[in-house]
Amino acid sequence: MSNIEWTEETWNPVAGCSLASPGCTNCYAMKMAGRLEAMGVPAYQGTTKKSKAGFVWTGLVNTAVTALTKPIRWKKPRQIFVNSMSDLFHPDVTEEWIDRVFAVMALCPQHTFQLLTKRSARMRDYLNQAGRYEAIYNAMGWLGRNSYTEPYPYRKALPNGMEWPLPNVWMGVSTEDQQRADERIPDLLATPAAVRFISAEPLLGPVDLTAIPAPDEVDGKTFEEGWSFNSLDTGDYYSQRSENTFGDVFYSGGNGPDREHALDWVIAGGESGPGARGSTDEVEANMRSLRDQCAAANVAFFGKQNFAKKKLPADLINARAYPATKRAEN
Ligand code: SF4
Repeated sequence: MSNIEWTEETWNPVAGCSLASPGCTNCYAMKMAGRLEAMGVPAYQGTTKKSKAGFVWTGLVNTAVTALTKPIRWKKPRQIFVNSMSDLFHPDVTEEWIDRVFAVMALCPQHTFQLLTKRSARMRDYLNQAGRYEAIYNAMGWLGRNSYTEPYPYRKALPNGMEWPLPNVWMGVSTEDQQRADERIPDLLATPAAVRFISAEPLLGPVDLTAIPAPDEVDGKTFEEGWSFNSLDTGDYYSQRSENTFGDVFYSGGNGPDREHALDWVIAGGESGPGARGSTDEVEANMRSLRDQCAAANVAFFGKQNFAKKKLPADLINARAYPATKRAEN
């Protein structure tokens, strides 16, 4: 079981990481990995070192071999956060290993997997690459053959094919501030996925999801620079921001290329622990803004935790929701 409010279980087929953006500064996984390494857990050996600030990453990333097939052994359906202790799309994780992780997810239609990354460009490129479906399908066969995964948890015949994108895998990016939202959301929307979500945690400032800079290319069509779009809504409406010499801001709108994708789910929460950034008032105000943006677009919002683990006010707790595809029994 997991203490993370929006999931039920964590699964860590990769151990070790390195800092990617401001949201990583007080990385909880880094401190936890240091403790696991000290306890002798094999996958975490060499991943952390001691510093004045406590355990920090060395940058070594290991594959967690014995964890790979765990979800296959979990028969009861679970909602599973993939790599709560690392980042599957870290540059040092091989494509071959990522294929195996996706193969396990493909072999577990009983579960829902929630995969969150800060390396959105690699996620986008990996899942769009020609031959990816075949590579993952072949990795499914490998899991059934290789003594590496003894005792074989998977002995059934391979399914003839698999639905693509995998219907039980939700893809997400961390968007702790506006810059990261602007950078990563276009990558997420260009990634094949059954459900797309963001985690605005630790929420380090206000985030406007309705004016994300349009990428050069949207669903295969080119788009001129300086335009933005509402990432909570599909469609072709874009706007362009301009300012006059007095600093007044104007928006002019227009139709651009149709977009097929929008965000399906928004998670937000404040930072906790030593050195937590922000304040209760700021975090609550920024969470309410995201909640209201989601409500206007009919997108599910989930208020995870308040700044410094203070109790969330009722209006944020009561707004908790999951995307429509969440398993019925929950
Ligand atoms: S990507 Fe995640 S696990 Fe890696 S350093 Fe950042 S917060 Fe920690």
